[in-house]
Amino acid sequence: MIEIEIKVRADHGPVRDRILGMGALKIRTEDHLDVYYNAPHRDFAETDEALRLRSVNGGTRMTYKGRKLDSVSKTREEFETPVDGTAAKGILVSLGFFESGIVKKTRDIYRYDDITICLDSVEGLGEFVEVELVADSDIDSHRELLFEFLESIGIKKEASIRTSYLEMLMEK
Ligand code: ATP
Ligand code: CA
Ligand code: CA
Repeated sequence: MIEIEIKVRADHGPVRDRILGMGALKIRTEDHLDVYYNAPHRDFAETDEALRLRSVNGGTRMTYKGRKLDSVSKTREEFETPVDGTAAKGILVSLGFFESGIVKKTRDIYRYDDITICLDSVEGLGEFVEVELVADSDIDSHRELLFEFLESIGIKKEASIRTSYLEMLMEK
């Protein structure tokens, strides 16, 4: 699957008001503890890939992300699956993978049509909004749909950030 995602720095209050006004529905709140790993055989910071174990509301999900596929958004290949956190960590560490960073955040998740809207409060960084669609074709038109949606809630295309939370924390 391709993750088509746009991230912006934005205060949640006005965004929440706008999306609820449009009829978006709140899905749930998640507390994320994200542990990123790097590989022994190549450097994910260079290849722009990511491997992550996410502890969320009592469970764990393992995620792989491929390199970003364009220059204006965070569109990339993504595979994600539920795992046993202790076992997954044991497998990765035994194979030589090692922790490269930790990100903590609270994510309020909303839905408008097929668009997922995440209001993220990231520890040490502040408030961000991500809009996302998952697709396997017509990437360009899906991305435009996301930019149009952001435009409709008062956020301009130029606000798009391609830096990950982990990179932002490392830059601090
Ligand atoms: P998601 O959208 O899957 O919920 P997220 O919103 O919590 O994730 P993002 O910042 O959007 O987090 O994406 C995770 C990012 O972390 C990816 O862009 C990945 O490339 C980056 N990343 C992982 N490991 C490293 C590393 N060692 N150095 C720099 N960036 C990394
Ligand atoms: Ca995403
Ligand atoms: Ca994201």
